[in-house]
Amino acid sequence: MRAIRRFTVQPVLPDALAALGELAGNLRWSWHPETQDVFAAVDPEAWEAAGHDPVKLLGHVGQTRLDELAADEGFLARLGAAHEDLRTYLTRDRWYQRSAAADAPRSIAYFSPEFGITAVLPQYSGGLGILAGDHLKTASDLGVPIVGVGLLYRHGYFRQFLSRDGWQQETYPVLDPDGLPIAPLRDADGNVAKVTIGLPDHGTLTARVWVAQVGRVPLLLLDSDTEENSPEIRGVTDRLYGGNSEHRLRQEMLLGIGGVRAIRAYTQITGAPAPEVFHTNEGHAGFLGLERIRELTETGPRLAFDVALEVSRAGTVFTTHTPVPAGIDRFPIDLVAQYFGGDNACPGVPVDRILALGAEDYPGGDSSVFNMAVMGFRLGQRANGVSQLHGHVSRGMFGGLWPDFDESERPISSITNGVHAPTWVAREIFDLVRSYGGRPGPEPDADHPSQVFELADKISGQDIWRTKRALREKLVLDARKRLRKSWKQRGAAPAELTWIDSALDPDVLTIGFARRVPSYKRLTLMLRDPERLKSLLLHPERPVQLVIAGKAHPADEGGKKLIQEIVRFADDHEVRHRIVFLPNYDIGMAQPLYPGCDVWLNNPLRPYEACGTSGMKAALNGGLNLSILDGWWDEWYDGNNGWAIPSADGIDDPDRRDDIEASALYDLIENEVAPRFYDNDAEGVPYRWIAMVRHTLKSLGPKVLADRMVRDYVTTLYAPAAASSRTLNGDFAGAVELAAWKKRTREAWRGVAIDHVESSGVADTPALNETLEVRAFVSLGDLTPDDVDVQVVHGRIGNDDNLVDTHAESLAHAETYEGGRHRFEGKVRLSSTGAFGYTVRVLPKNAHLAGPAELGKVTYPPA
Ligand SMILES: *Cc1c(COP(=O)(O)O)cnc(C)c1O
Repeated sequence: MRAIRRFTVQPVLPDALAALGELAGNLRWSWHPETQDVFAAVDPEAWEAAGHDPVKLLGHVGQTRLDELAADEGFLARLGAAHEDLRTYLTRDRWYQRSAAADAPRSIAYFSPEFGITAVLPQYSGGLGILAGDHLKTASDLGVPIVGVGLLYRHGYFRQFLSRDGWQQETYPVLDPDGLPIAPLRDADGNVAKVTIGLPDHGTLTARVWVAQVGRVPLLLLDSDTEENSPEIRGVTDRLYGGNSEHRLRQEMLLGIGGVRAIRAYTQITGAPAPEVFHTNEGHAGFLGLERIRELTETGPRLAFDVALEVSRAGTVFTTHTPVPAGIDRFPIDLVAQYFGGDNACPGVPVDRILALGAEDYPGGDSSVFNMAVMGFRLGQRANGVSQLHGHVSRGMFGGLWPDFDESERPISSITNGVHAPTWVAREIFDLVRSYGGRPGPEPDADHPSQVFELADKISGQDIWRTKRALREKLVLDARKRLRKSWKQRGAAPAELTWIDSALDPDVLTIGFARRVPSYKRLTLMLRDPERLKSLLLHPERPVQLVIAGKAHPADEGGKKLIQEIVRFADDHEVRHRIVFLPNYDIGMAQPLYPGCDVWLNNPLRPYEACGTSGMKAALNGGLNLSILDGWWDEWYDGNNGWAIPSADGIDDPDRRDDIEASALYDLIENEVAPRFYDNDAEGVPYRWIAMVRHTLKSLGPKVLADRMVRDYVTTLYAPAAASSRTLNGDFAGAVELAAWKKRTREAWRGVAIDHVESSGVADTPALNETLEVRAFVSLGDLTPDDVDVQVVHGRIGNDDNLVDTHAESLAHAETYEGGRHRFEGKVRLSSTGAFGYTVRVLPKNAHLAGPAELGKVTYPPA
């Protein structure tokens, strides 16, 4: 029979064990093996049975065992030490307190649709969520005062298993919040904090606010499953990335609007400082900007919309995460009008203004959709992509927002992603580093992260090799366990499964490939020539083995087909001991997977992989990357720290392109990777391989750390955003002025023209270091010389007379003539030889702009 209600009965911890509750209640245990040891010691079997979930463990361990532990001096000492360590971690000054500028933001709110922190809080689908999780953990390690905001999905993301014929099946486990490592936010009277948002037709959504404590960082999670809501509305936070457009829109309204309200409830209850910076991690969370405008227009200072927009924008950072069009959220414009208009309209945030923010009102845009990324750029004064290449691709993709600017000048910067080492680096590697006197871990070396990686040269080849073999073996054992479980699910009898005991080999070159299965990641590229792959797997002296995993989105039939192709290939008796597909890729599988692989394979269709982070995790574990030059690899591949699969970029026929790239992949494995791996010296150590591992650790280690990433966010985005925000906040005079100036400048820009440009001072064929004098005669119409920056832009001449490697220098205002005409002048030193050219342009100028392209206005001389 079915239960109509369920509870999770919490254990009563004896007073002496109270610290266990505290350790279980802070997710820092998930990246702190010593704390995990304490849980394991509570009851080793129950710890395994609970899937290394402390909350579950404490719910299952019997009272007798708890009483026993409460009297066990040895255990109490370990518990005390772990507790003390957590206390120290939570209270001691970290990098931010020591090193960040005195005027660094007091608090930063970080909004994301998914967070991947630990396998026991399955609120993520892939890289975006894992990155958000790593961002929070690293912020905690560095002492950055972040508050995370997300949704609590009742079913999380789905669990994957396979049918007999290899078709992806999905289940959606019900997550009981009482059994999760989260606690309700309660006010001083003990009431559970709730927030509401309006829906059309006088509807309201009420959401509970939960807090997951990620080290020093609180993560607020909104949950629509409360009794105030109708069954339909209770289901708004049912699952991640499920449902139709309307469902997604409701989720994103709850995340953005409800999220800001949850922050207000949190800061009011706890006394924590209000965020000065709001970080919109991917477009999905973008409605947070509308709520902040509403706060400013309808309450408190009751600013005009345009003024509130400037205030909110100044403190908002937007990160775009994908160049894949399907990854960009777009809603039917009528749906957005329905949800933000009618009886749900806010007087301070008129629906036509909202629609304008998300409009694709540029050539090639679709006037029937509301684009969340476009709104993100308009609501955030600072924006970035997640690798240099992705920044470049994004500046192209969103170029319609700044049509008059060259690609390189469009205001989208980039910060390359990184990964949280304590989460992703095997304990065995930390132990090895320690045994050579290193102090691994992020924080102690935050200011000198490269030091620990220099140790790679000191650790003996044998020790490296022995450790890698142990990690490979661990992966093999874990993979066999998963394989057995999967085959049982697929209906195999135990007698059919004896082969699994010898599936994979701890001494064979192991290549990993695990990621979500959108088509651009090309899961099946390796199957392009099945016979060729087979011969690599079965090579008599230099075999390779492949460990593969990944989930397809439930609605993606094409992706499921790819999985089926791989599974069918791997089911073949001839190769099944050398290639395995492991169902249900998640953090729990990923953690032993990266360290156990010798090579990490990545073969996306360039340039669709915005960054990619799995290869970074492999690298930190001494794995070598074998990858298309896309995302982060395009930036940091140096010719010796792995292999680049050449990509056939210019070829339009996708089949031919796949053929060419797959063939290059096979060649690399056969001629470069495998020979190096199996080229052992007398001691059985492949020294040329080890040299590459060492070089990988030294060259990539410091760069791929999330420490570097979070510090980059703090210094290049959060701190400047906080500064901008402060100058506009105060009495709002600056914002009033800025909004008025922008309006005036936009309107008056029609009157700006470059009438005439003269130069003198050099001969027809000038020599190096001669000085060119430039005079520009400019009409400014209703604008004054202070409103504009008149620049000379000079550089080398490239194709079609285009300037390349340009430098811009401002010209000084020299004289005003009648009719709004002015002369500007300045000098340019000819500092390089060869074809040189220059032009002059006029840009809007205001101290409150983050960059010259912000208004999208620029005037060049008439052609
Ligand atoms: C790191 C990670 C990802 C992201 O990998 P990409 O290389 O960015 O595709 C996805 N899922 C899990 C479980 C991960 O650990």
